[in-house]
Amino acid sequence: MRLWFMGAARTVTGSMHLIEVNGSRVLLECGLFQGPRKESAERNRALPFAPENIDAVVLSHAHIDHSGNLPTLAKRYDGNIYTTFATRDLCSLMLMDSAHIQEKDADWVNRHEELEGEERIEPLYTPEDVQKALSQFVSIAYHRPLPIADGVTLTFIDAGHVLGSAQVVLDVRENGVERRVVFSGDIGRRHTTLLRPWEPVPEADILIMESTYGGREHGPFAAMAGHLADVVNRTVARGGKIIIPSFALERAQEIVFHLRNLLKEGKIQPLPVYVDSPLAVNITDVFSLHPDCLAPEINQFYLKREDPFSFPGLKYVTEVEDSKAINDEKTPSVIISASGMCEAGRILHHLRNNIENENNTILIVGFQAQHTLGRRLVEHEPEVKIFGVPYPVMAEVVVLNGYSGHADKHGLLGYAKSTKESLSRVFLVHGDPDQSQKLAATLQSEGFARIHVPELGERVEL
Ligand SMILES: [Zn+2]
Repeated sequence: MRLWFMGAARTVTGSMHLIEVNGSRVLLECGLFQGPRKESAERNRALPFAPENIDAVVLSHAHIDHSGNLPTLAKRYDGNIYTTFATRDLCSLMLMDSAHIQEKDADWVNRHEELEGEERIEPLYTPEDVQKALSQFVSIAYHRPLPIADGVTLTFIDAGHVLGSAQVVLDVRENGVERRVVFSGDIGRRHTTLLRPWEPVPEADILIMESTYGGREHGPFAAMAGHLADVVNRTVARGGKIIIPSFALERAQEIVFHLRNLLKEGKIQPLPVYVDSPLAVNITDVFSLHPDCLAPEINQFYLKREDPFSFPGLKYVTEVEDSKAINDEKTPSVIISASGMCEAGRILHHLRNNIENENNTILIVGFQAQHTLGRRLVEHEPEVKIFGVPYPVMAEVVVLNGYSGHADKHGLLGYAKSTKESLSRVFLVHGDPDQSQKLAATLQSEGFARIHVPELGERVEL
């Protein structure tokens, strides 16, 4: 058996690993590399292997850094792509959204390069390519083992990270030897609102695990709703609006559910709340289709035919005209909009219209990568550019780190410990080098055997 680390090695983006066993090649994920424009374009277009030679593809969850380059792969790959049912539904929405972003990006580049006489580029992939990839998805429920290649049986178990997220358990039989390889995908926090928590890893021999926050601690999740109430009440008292840039998947629904509870408990007063993102609106509907992924508290709503993501005053906005109309309102409201890092989408309009008013609050509830507008807000820069125009940041900027969808260093250690006794090798992926190294040191001090942080392109014989 051989492992080949081709993405999300010493970085958090472009997840892609290959397992070769019994002459078969199983690809774990085909994520989009999201970084500087030129490097991203090169890496996403040139896959580091021949797609025709892949025998099966397995996807842990729908986030674009894990799923986002499947349409490129499927241009030259006709085999199965295994996921959970919820991941398939989410990919249908999110990959289509990604295709439109690819087309817009290519347009932008072409308009700028034309001026310099450069050749036109094609989008990385199109909506047609997305539909081809989706036609190859084979969905299986959690805990339903399925043979996917010669001597390889796949089982998905809960990862507690986003709707449909799974750990990938591969039972491998090669030359009469049986081994269990577990790929963690992204691991969620043990206590969150919407999802069932991750399940302990059963008897793994080889663990490939994420290390996004391998050296960091999150604030306690239980305190988050209280902080949210404080922010809302403080801003309403000033007569301002609360602008929340949010990822369309999971974070938007989490915030809505917390606001619903705060309102019900009388901890905030009734006020208009807008979810202004067509993608977030569509994704919220997908939750109702997959009770097998949900925390019992949330599932109870659906059993009683109630909607956990609905309350008086909440409006889901899809039409552009309705989105623009929000700006005309002068009274306090909450506006939840995407993209989560303020790089594109309707959030930019809301920021532009509200950033110069000191009564307003910009509430950051998600990870903000370097060089994004969201990161500049987190770092309290006095002036930021929106659509190329500089604006002074007069609104209050509040950061709530505790909403992270990833386990922190304690969570990751607890996760790894759940299978420690059987492990012979641990590979740490999906982390910036300092975070992976910190987790490696922690695991070492806890007596784990043979921990390795692979480099991009590294191959390991097992
Ligand atoms: Zn993820």
